Amino acid sequence: MEDWILQNLDTARELASMGLCDHCLGRMFGKIGTGMTNDQRGRMFRDALETSGEDLPASEFCPLCENVFDLVDRFAEAAAESVNTVDSDNFLIGCRVEPEVVKRETEIWEELGLKEPESIKTELNREIGKAAIHMINRPVEFKKPQVVACVDTRFADVTLDIAPLFIAGRYTKYSREIPQTKWPCRMCHGKGCDYCHGKGKLYETSVQEIIGDIALEMTGGEEHFFHGMGREDIDARMLGDGRPFVLEISKPMVRRIDLQELEERANQGELAGYNSLHFVEREAVERYKGAASDKVYRVHVLVEGKVNKEAVVRASISFKDADIHQRTPRRVEHRRADLVRHRRIHWVKADSITEDSFDLELETDSGTYVKEFVSGDEGRTEPSFSEALGVQCRVETLDVLAINYHEPRGIIHAEIKRNQDKDPQRPQEEGKGTRTFTHHQRPPDFRGRREGQHHHRPQHPQGNAVLQIPRTHRSRRRREGKRLRGQRQGRQQDEDGRCPPRAPCQDQGRQLRRCAECLSATSRWLR
Ligand SMILES: [Zn+2]
Ligand SMILES: [Zn+2]
Repeated sequence: MEDWILQNLDTARELASMGLCDHCLGRMFGKIGTGMTNDQRGRMFRDALETSGEDLPASEFCPLCENVFDLVDRFAEAAAESVNTVDSDNFLIGCRVEPEVVKRETEIWEELGLKEPESIKTELNREIGKAAIHMINRPVEFKKPQVVACVDTRFADVTLDIAPLFIAGRYTKYSREIPQTKWPCRMCHGKGCDYCHGKGKLYETSVQEIIGDIALEMTGGEEHFFHGMGREDIDARMLGDGRPFVLEISKPMVRRIDLQELEERANQGELAGYNSLHFVEREAVERYKGAASDKVYRVHVLVEGKVNKEAVVRASISFKDADIHQRTPRRVEHRRADLVRHRRIHWVKADSITEDSFDLELETDSGTYVKEFVSGDEGRTEPSFSEALGVQCRVETLDVLAINYHEPRGIIHAEIKRNQDKDPQRPQEEGKGTRTFTHHQRPPDFRGRREGQHHHRPQHPQGNAVLQIPRTHRSRRRREGKRLRGQRQGRQQDEDGRCPPRAPCQDQGRQLRRCAECLSATSRWLR
């Protein structure tokens, strides 16, 4: 007889005399010895007792588990049936046990001072899982299961817990009339009332809804949530490569949707564009929300009074790497804490200067209130552009041109790999673009930057760039879509969304808005 049986025989005798079934008897010593089920363990004790002349058979109705283990196959069938309605890479089975049973079990542990018992829940989970796995054509995943089937052992019904699906990408917003996220009516909170004309929301659509509704339809999910890396005002456009975001779909029935199809469908409208869609893990949401990325803006400024070009240029130059402090602006005072923030203006560049208006392009720290930097917000932002110029200015329109965010390299690599693994139907074929690029679909009346100019990020724009090139020359070049002096030729993708041959090396260090060819080239360097 094995040692562990001998050592525990007295306790086992006591338990067996209660009439416990083999499962329950064995489970009381569940963490002793491996390589056998509780059922077998229980039988070994009973055999040992029988050898020493004590016949203590299990009673017909186990006083502890109430013969719940007889139903394991039925539970497994129900669980498998449920799991099989959902598309996932893995699954896990859990269960809910009658609280009365759990209570009885703990009482026995305490009464007999058991050192290494296993809980009935753990055993049931394992046994149901073992019986179900043959009916579910997927591996079990304990850490991050995509689907958890929870079997209620009292009624044999199953509830499914489906992990949300996360899709990251970048969006551009061409409309000054739609918000980033769905904006529920503040009167009825989405139910629909007279104020919102029964729609339950204040804006017809949003960057979130355009892509989210399509993703919901493709995944059969329940609801979508939008996590942007910051947001712009409704009346601001988001241009260039776009703003990183993560779209979350709750309870997706299908996970392996074709992201290319999603991107194409979402890009059919003219209000917003989407690019670089890829699957991410939940962690990306926090990473995106916590990212503090520098941003490049373009603003059209109106002046109350008259200015001359030299003064505007001088003011622009004075903000090279300038620190400013901003007290919470009046316009957001009601929803933000009133405090003073310190921000840096990296550079400012002026052009299209007339007597009473000009354009500014500027790069700032994350979280800078640009409109207030220009206006001064009645002294709440110091120093301000108005102050430097000596004339009151205000921003008429604002566009975000670039958000300088780069995923940590390890993550890019892992995600490229994961996305390739996940999508066997989408091999990274040579010469075939697997992504679509939305800047081709910009509305024809697009103002501001042109195709391919969005990679332009002058590091030292003051001095020569503005002063030495005559404005007429610059504006003619701009009008004709030609390169300005000191400006690198932007990358233009061809019809298939492919980058020109030299693009990958020019593009080192950047990671978004790439065609498939660039992507696979990138993953090669990272190795
Ligand atoms: Zn039992
Ligand atoms: Zn309403």
